[in-house]
Amino acid sequence: MTKSISFDIAGLILVCLLLLSTVFRRMTSGTSNKLFLTSVIMAIISTMYDILAVTLDNMNSQNWPLLYAAHTGYLLAHNIQTPLHVLFVISLTDTWHKIRKNPFLMTILFLPYSVDVIALFINPFTQCMFSVAHGYRHEWLFNILYVNIVPYVVMDLVLIIVYRKLFNLRKIVALCSMATLCVFAVVIHLIIPTQLVECFAIAISLSIVSVSIQRPEDYIDSFTGLLKHSAYGYDMRRAFTNGKHVHIIMLNIANYSAIQSMMGYDAATDILKIVAEKIHFFDSSLKCKSAMYYLDRGRFRMVFDESRRSKAEDAAQLLLNDLKLRSNVNGMDIDLTPSIVLARCPEEIESFKSLMAFGQDFHEKIPYSGSVHLASDVYNFKDFSVRNNIDAIIERALKNNSFEVYYQPIYSIENKRFMSAEALLRLKDKEHGFISPEILVPAAERNGAIHKIGAFVFEEVCKFISSDEYKNLGLDYIEVNLSVAQCMHGDLADVILGIMNKYHVSPDSINLEITETAASYSQRVMTDNLNKLSNAGLSFSLDDYGTGYSNMKRVISLPLKIVKLDKSFVDEQHNPKMWIFLQNTIKMLKDMKMEIVVEGIETQEMVDAFSELKCDFIQGFFFSKPINKTEFIEFIAGFVPLNE
Ligand code: C2E
Ligand code: MG
Ligand code: MG
Repeated sequence: MTKSISFDIAGLILVCLLLLSTVFRRMTSGTSNKLFLTSVIMAIISTMYDILAVTLDNMNSQNWPLLYAAHTGYLLAHNIQTPLHVLFVISLTDTWHKIRKNPFLMTILFLPYSVDVIALFINPFTQCMFSVAHGYRHEWLFNILYVNIVPYVVMDLVLIIVYRKLFNLRKIVALCSMATLCVFAVVIHLIIPTQLVECFAIAISLSIVSVSIQRPEDYIDSFTGLLKHSAYGYDMRRAFTNGKHVHIIMLNIANYSAIQSMMGYDAATDILKIVAEKIHFFDSSLKCKSAMYYLDRGRFRMVFDESRRSKAEDAAQLLLNDLKLRSNVNGMDIDLTPSIVLARCPEEIESFKSLMAFGQDFHEKIPYSGSVHLASDVYNFKDFSVRNNIDAIIERALKNNSFEVYYQPIYSIENKRFMSAEALLRLKDKEHGFISPEILVPAAERNGAIHKIGAFVFEEVCKFISSDEYKNLGLDYIEVNLSVAQCMHGDLADVILGIMNKYHVSPDSINLEITETAASYSQRVMTDNLNKLSNAGLSFSLDDYGTGYSNMKRVISLPLKIVKLDKSFVDEQHNPKMWIFLQNTIKMLKDMKMEIVVEGIETQEMVDAFSELKCDFIQGFFFSKPINKTEFIEFIAGFVPLNE
């Protein structure tokens, strides 16, 4: 019976092309790529052995050593495909660290193929697998090769099913294609013994994997040659899911956006390439074997295995030192502001969500120090766990009515008594404890809850103002904060006026605080709201003056009664230039007939300094932190005026 080698030749051409494409597309680094490449090479070897063996068989060759060598070579190279495939799936699911520790799984992984190898090596003496004396013939133990494939197929399937969330349908189909095509090939071979389709089936299944899984354009950034944001997201999610421990160098170029807007797209892209080259250089010179990523907007990452902590530390320090040096791009000297955090995950950053949220903008929050920061020093777990769950926290608080309003007294320098107070939102969550309004308010603005929360705060304040206890305190008004989103809501003025009506609160007992950012918006809705409230007799304070970028013309045109100088002015009062600036700002505001509140006063020295500057009101921890209504009433009633 003469066997045909046509399918083998077609398979050989296919796997050779696959080899070229893999090398040309530079898909040769990283464990999964290396395993894939090994599979392709083994497919080439097995097909060549098969062609040789079949040709010798067809010629009725009596060269027994060559016949044994050809058939054994083919069977060894062909049967290694299944364990290689399992290793490939293990590397895609990043589960090697788990499997390595499990003796049972290690046995399944290595025993069956080892049995194949031993049986094939002793075959020339035992003739238990095949014989060649009267033409090539399978012997009694040959079927062990088929039996030994079963554990690999089972392991493959279990891994794919357990980690199915890591793969989309296209990838799952590609990963299952090898087992399916091999079964198909065996069936065809049994039906038509002259057609050898096994090698061709392997070639097809490797091609499917190459097209569906090994797609560099999906995850390699074309400018930097580093892995893309999506690959980082995928790899990190997988590491957290599998409990894998890694060290991450998180590099954010803090001034990247500024460079891009000043110098243009091309120069900014050149900078990215320079940084990527440096990352490549340190990775290879220190033999880090890290996975390197470019995310976007000047953010780079290097991910190291657990055992490579000292390499990660060295690479972080050297990279930072190098990036601090001036770079020359297109004839221009550029100073980068690199910010590097070295994080051990999951010990220091506990979840995928937190890692991504922290990585987004840590360079804006950590003061530039020129040295590598450790995540254990700069990452605040509570802060991020709150940020990650803030929507649920707000929903729960609204449902359980757990928001509260606190009051912080505001002291009049001239009258030497408290004349007003600021209402501030407070939330104590059962699980996360006190939640700062700095996190709460922006999140509530994003998810729309701010309107309900704002109405709640306003109603609490009006209830308080209309109570007898309030009337005895001798306060003139309460300040209530309004955020940008509140001011942009068409119903704001009606809601506020409606609540005031309900509690019979007069407009002069309320003062609404808007921030500079809100004041500089000139949208129709906001202007209508502010005009309507102002016409109803309500007055406004400009909060956090000096922190935003005001549209001065717009600020001047608003019906403002009070300006609140931000705490940042107070913190810098010892700077002589700031002092001159403060003196003149206060004079200017006074000339415009505005009243001035200074926020963040914490010491007697600050009280004296701002009294000397002729500010009208003082607010700060020096007098009192924001306190609940009962404490506030006690505080005001029991207050003994200063210097008396
Ligand atoms: P803000 O309106 O500028 O409020 C003043 C903030 O400074 C308060 O922070 C207050 O606790 C804090 N503070 C007052 N005196 C001192 C001091 O001497 N030292 C220091 N270090 N801090 C002082 P809080 O309560 O965390 O509020 C933060 C921001 O959240 C507020 O800034 C305001 O913009 C917003 N916010 C608070 N409650 C509400 C609310 O009911 N509605 C809206 N829309 N925003 C609110
Ligand atoms: Mg305020
Ligand atoms: Mg303020």
